[in-house]
Amino acid sequence: MTDALTAVDAPADLVLIGGRIHLFDVDASAASSIAIRGGVIVAHDDAALALAPSAGRVIDLGGRTVIPGINDAHLHAAWLGARWPRLFFGDHESSHDHDGALLTTNAERRAALHRAWRLLASLGVTSYTEPGIGPGEDAGATGCFGTPMLETYVDLHRSGAQTSRVTLLRLFGTIDGETHLDAFRAGLATATPATDPRWLAIPGVKIFADGIPPLRTAWVREPYVDGSLGALLTRGPDGPRQAFREMVRLAHDAGLQVAVHATGDRSIAEFLGVLEEAGAAPRRHPHYIVHADLAFDDLLARMRTLGVGAAVQPLIAAFTHAWASGQLGTERAARAWPLAQMLDRGILTTITSDAPIATPDWRASVDAAVQLLTDAGVPDGVTTRRAILHRLTVDAARQDGAADWKGTLAHGFVGDLCVLTDDPLEATRRASDLEVDLTVVGGRVVFERGLTSAVDADDARLDARA
Ligand SMILES: [Zn+2]
Repeated sequence: MTDALTAVDAPADLVLIGGRIHLFDVDASAASSIAIRGGVIVAHDDAALALAPSAGRVIDLGGRTVIPGINDAHLHAAWLGARWPRLFFGDHESSHDHDGALLTTNAERRAALHRAWRLLASLGVTSYTEPGIGPGEDAGATGCFGTPMLETYVDLHRSGAQTSRVTLLRLFGTIDGETHLDAFRAGLATATPATDPRWLAIPGVKIFADGIPPLRTAWVREPYVDGSLGALLTRGPDGPRQAFREMVRLAHDAGLQVAVHATGDRSIAEFLGVLEEAGAAPRRHPHYIVHADLAFDDLLARMRTLGVGAAVQPLIAAFTHAWASGQLGTERAARAWPLAQMLDRGILTTITSDAPIATPDWRASVDAAVQLLTDAGVPDGVTTRRAILHRLTVDAARQDGAADWKGTLAHGFVGDLCVLTDDPLEATRRASDLEVDLTVVGGRVVFERGLTSAVDADDARLDARA
């Protein structure tokens, strides 16, 4: 660390004063001012005020509330940027339409990412996981997930154009489709691009195990109402199950983070079984299950033991619950999306949007999570609100293997934060009623209300910014 004199004397780049700043540190403490220098938080309260006279910029919060920047741990930014404002579930005209080719040129790919980044900055999102980009989608219809998109990510990263930190998972199969063992093995053998992991981390792989309960494509232990069981999406010479097991084992043994798209309890059990046989222990980049719709109690206990996390989507649960009930039966559907049990058991859980499936607006996800928890008998209140926001900040940083440098506003952590009109911990209001007034990433203001024009379709101008 720098010595105390240097720390006190060097000018801060940005000081925020006069607010309610929730640090989300281990003590759940709060401050009224905060100072950032060199992208890192260097002072709070009086020590921060002392840095104000010489600071590059001082912002009076006027009583507003500050929380750590939001980290959406499962969000398809390239696809979102290409489609926005069209979502699959949401207030905008619903579109279960087929995308067709959305992105074909380098300029279009760059524009899509810039558009997503501007949108995310306006929402207070400072980190996200792009879950699945790679050669498995090189022939994909949308053009949003193939190798060229990975190259665009790396180019923009190296030019310093990012306004969100990104964790990117490589993909050696197709999005929501099959993965072949030989292609997976070949993909694992290829080099990962060299990047600064604070801005573009590429720690692992995404594997699609199964589909979703409403379509009866989740692989389940007890049959659907029609008697079917769903199936695995993995393929190999010894059948889907052996292919899946080998993929997980190969990636795990290579030291990679493994994120498995698994909604069915049978898929989840299979994944956990492989890790148990491998003697897997909690690691810096934890393995996790994306969706985990039917992660019932016995499975949650095993996840806890293994340190396996869950990236869940309360908005998708809200949109599809009735639809899934028709396939699962009401009793099993009532036990699906067990967010309350995940939090109760201390599972590493991230609350995510899966945008553009649902809106990337985390405030809507918070309201949906409150609904999911209160429906399960959890009382609403400061503790519940804090627990939910923890999943969008601290736990998301843990999923990123970055809990020691982002996700809280403690001293020495990066200056990623979000300023809101009111306090999201107060249970009397919907999160959706709060406005985002300022977004800061690494001490740099990337959005401020009134000074930044609304996100629009001016792709050319956005791209020119790079
Ligand atoms: Zn997804």
